[in-house]
Amino acid sequence: MSTLTAAAIKVPHYINGAWVESTASNWQDVMNPASGEVLGSVPQVEAAEVSMAVEAAAAAYPDWRRTPAEDRIQPLFKLKFLLEEHIDELSRVITRENGKTFGEAKGELRRAIENVEVACGIPMMMQGYNLEDVARGIDEMMIRQPLGVVAAITPFNFPGMIPFWFLPYAIACGNTLIVKPSEHVPLTMKLAFELLDKTGLPKGVVNLVNGGKTAVDTLIDHPKVRAISFVGSTPVARYIYARAGEKGKRAQCQGGAKNSVVILPDADMSMATQIISDSAFGCAGQRCLAVSVAVTVGEAQKTFRDSIADAASSIRVGYGLDDGTQMGPVITKQSKDRIESLIGLGEKQGAKILVDGRSPKISKYESGHFLKPTILDGVPAESELTHTEIFGPVLSMVHASNLDEAMEFLSNSPFGNQASLFTSSGSAARRFRYEAPAGNIGINIGVAAPMAYFPFSGWKDSFFGVMHGQGRDAVEFYTEKKVVVERWAKEHSRKF
Ligand code: NAD
Repeated sequence: MSTLTAAAIKVPHYINGAWVESTASNWQDVMNPASGEVLGSVPQVEAAEVSMAVEAAAAAYPDWRRTPAEDRIQPLFKLKFLLEEHIDELSRVITRENGKTFGEAKGELRRAIENVEVACGIPMMMQGYNLEDVARGIDEMMIRQPLGVVAAITPFNFPGMIPFWFLPYAIACGNTLIVKPSEHVPLTMKLAFELLDKTGLPKGVVNLVNGGKTAVDTLIDHPKVRAISFVGSTPVARYIYARAGEKGKRAQCQGGAKNSVVILPDADMSMATQIISDSAFGCAGQRCLAVSVAVTVGEAQKTFRDSIADAASSIRVGYGLDDGTQMGPVITKQSKDRIESLIGLGEKQGAKILVDGRSPKISKYESGHFLKPTILDGVPAESELTHTEIFGPVLSMVHASNLDEAMEFLSNSPFGNQASLFTSSGSAARRFRYEAPAGNIGINIGVAAPMAYFPFSGWKDSFFGVMHGQGRDAVEFYTEKKVVVERWAKEHSRKF
């Protein structure tokens, strides 16, 4: 049951170039996690409305795929400038519905814009290759063609960036697209689609559908949807990958994470502390590349423990639109409760709470879902907590006597999104890069987020599929290869 304020809106879909209000009977509140204010409501949409979007995208496809690549990217140039022009407005929406700070929101939008810029290179990135005379007088070529209708299903933690890991590449390659954002943060994509509406894209090329599981299942099952891009938690990623596979569709499903950073005694400890603190507690720890376990090696244990405790305790927690705030709330009350109970579990399993951020009082925001940075020291390497994604501002400290032991700890993790090393040794860094079992590696980097022209990698339970989001992988994912072998009889050319 929704309790909308006067300023709150019922979030519409964007289908076939028009805003469409849902006829759903059930709606879910969209909340500001810092203040508890109701910002709007999203429909728990029925399958028929989702099918309308698929049909619109399917109708737009034949003409869009025949539009030259050079013309397909012109709306993306416009989009880049519109996103730049509205970056502050979009950032405020992100902070209001997601909770991260204004600066963090702006940072994620820069990454979104970067993906739009890279997709503008599609006329080159989408090229195939060829070879004359594979046999005498016979030529062979590989052409990339778009798939048709594709869909992107995205999580709450980067409402402005993650849809843009997919949208610009999908449409630049000649596909038509449906975006289904997280029901916790639908307002950012609403504003982004208001901008997309001004770019001159033909009707039906991009569509926005709001909702939850029914919307997702309908998109996967619909016979006219050819491919699914997903980012979210591991259980849902696994489920979507399997369901898409059953229907014979291609899917790229990015899942959850539990990222470790290894700190060697020769690391620049003050730089390491500052960077690791930002990685663990930035965005309130709700980043799939957040460092969640610090593995100290040898003497690094004591120096790092003291400095990270100071850094964590000094972080200013509050509303992301207030000046000076360095960390905002977590997304929901359920998240906050889950994180606090995992901190309790860590304590039960033998960890010592070095910095306790549970139940803080944040003046003026008593209804917010706030936690302060928390550090658990001496977490046993084999405990449940070291393999459970917390997705909150909690850093677990594990100790290893040498790099071999630290590498073994990393190998035992079910996740493989990111692993980082802090050291001043080139050979230790090379070994780490070579052996660490994760898709994104940081050397003296806390959040090893790939630029748009590299794949956003991820291994093990952090990714299901072959081609990742962003860059060349995105072009591979959103196109299929056609091979043509060609022979023309000589007599015909002699006629002219
Ligand atoms: P989530 O899995 O709960 O939701 C993601 C999307 O899936 C949403 O659009 C949601 O509506 C939909 N969904 C949720 N449950 C579903 C179900 N049962 N059936 C079908 N669809 C369903 O994830 P979240 O809480 O929004 O996001 C946080 C998670 O995302 C974390 O685990 C984080 O690590 C992960 N994440 C991963 C990456 C990456 O690149 N690997 C990036 C960002 C976030």
